Amino acid sequence: MSDSLRAVRGMNDMLPAEGALWRQFEAIVRDWLAAYGYQELRTPILEHTALFKRAIGEVTDIVEKEMYTFVDELNGESLTLRPEGTASCVRAAIENNLLFDGGKRLWYMGPMFRHERPQKGRYRQFHQVGIEALGYAGPDLDIEHLLMGARLWKQLGLAGCVTLEINSLGGAESRARHRQKLIEYFEAHRAQLDEDAQRRLYTNPLRILDTKNPAMQDLVSAAPRLMDELDAEARRHFDAVQQGLTDAGIAFKVNPRLVRGLDYYNYTVYEWVTDRLGAQGTVCAGGRYDGLVAQLGGKPTPACGFAMGVERLLALMQEAGTPIASDPLDAYVVNVGEAAARFALQAAERLRDAGLKVALHGGGGSFKSQMKKADASGARFALIIGDDEAQAGEVSVKPLRAGGEQQRVKLDNVTQLLKKG
Ligand code: ATP
Ligand code: MG
Repeated sequence: MSDSLRAVRGMNDMLPAEGALWRQFEAIVRDWLAAYGYQELRTPILEHTALFKRAIGEVTDIVEKEMYTFVDELNGESLTLRPEGTASCVRAAIENNLLFDGGKRLWYMGPMFRHERPQKGRYRQFHQVGIEALGYAGPDLDIEHLLMGARLWKQLGLAGCVTLEINSLGGAESRARHRQKLIEYFEAHRAQLDEDAQRRLYTNPLRILDTKNPAMQDLVSAAPRLMDELDAEARRHFDAVQQGLTDAGIAFKVNPRLVRGLDYYNYTVYEWVTDRLGAQGTVCAGGRYDGLVAQLGGKPTPACGFAMGVERLLALMQEAGTPIASDPLDAYVVNVGEAAARFALQAAERLRDAGLKVALHGGGGSFKSQMKKADASGARFALIIGDDEAQAGEVSVKPLRAGGEQQRVKLDNVTQLLKKG
């Protein structure tokens, strides 16, 4: 196949064989969100580039090198395929005045785009489910989100596969103090800094802590900790979050090196990680971003949220052996002959009226080849219609999965037979 007829590298088709897994995941997620009173928000996949630059931060991996940005030639605007969902959520909340009567609990689900090196668990189009609680300052919402995570992993069959790491980034002042100490520390070890870190030393030294370069891990481990700079209020907030987790019996580890790849976070940050997916082990990440709404032009509004990577969670469900409910066809309608084809069409519609899932064989072919298709379809029953049956207004019902004899019955009685079997 010529290159132009292939999908874009790192962007995947969801094939029919994967459908049951995706649908099960999405159904569980929707019920889970409803159980906590979250409301869905859908935003466009394209936004003005300025939104992401302002929200995520100019000196971040995403903005520096991962965004699909282009100029709309019709009007010269710079647009970007969304690399994450929080910026759009906050933009939409401000623009539509969603916060006029107080806090809002929102969720979104959909594709995100980042120009990364494709590998297992890392794609250029991937999917996230995210939640955002806008207008809530207290640690109760941070705790709610962590409890939500724990409950969802259980519902997805992943309890025991993911662990929680948390940290606090403190407020602006503690970050400024820490930033100064970090710069001094890294200046003193300048020779050990890689190119990215050199570049970020004065623009965004906190980001250096997030490096994935193995050669820098020791240096980063020994760096001054933000944790040691927390003011009393940040400390109280963080203690309350930990208390909430302990009360709920959720195990966690405080990881003072956890900083997250986006600039908008303050106070609580966390990641749910697994060791069963190789290098791409973070399945969900989030935290508090009290400054973002104001930063994007809204009234100062505290907020927090998280986003999970759907592909990584699906891979983990498969790895963990989560049972996937199949949703088989009730019937596959085999029809041989012209009168049979006409009657089969009506019969299939009648059964669908009764709520059954029915595939009607198309394209003709011998009885034998149609029966093969019926078997391969996964349907519970083959409904066999020849001209003979058509004439009599009857259907031969053959169980394909459970045992049992083939029976010929009036069309009116097929529904009952299928619902029983
Ligand atoms: P990573 O450190 O793996 O690059 P990140 O910090 O860039 O992740 P976030 O922006 O926090 O990721 O996104 C939340 C979640 O979305 C991640 O924890 C991960 O599960 C998923 N995710 C992020 N980028 C990708 C990608 N390119 N492909 C697949 N999933 C991704
Ligand atoms: Mg990333």
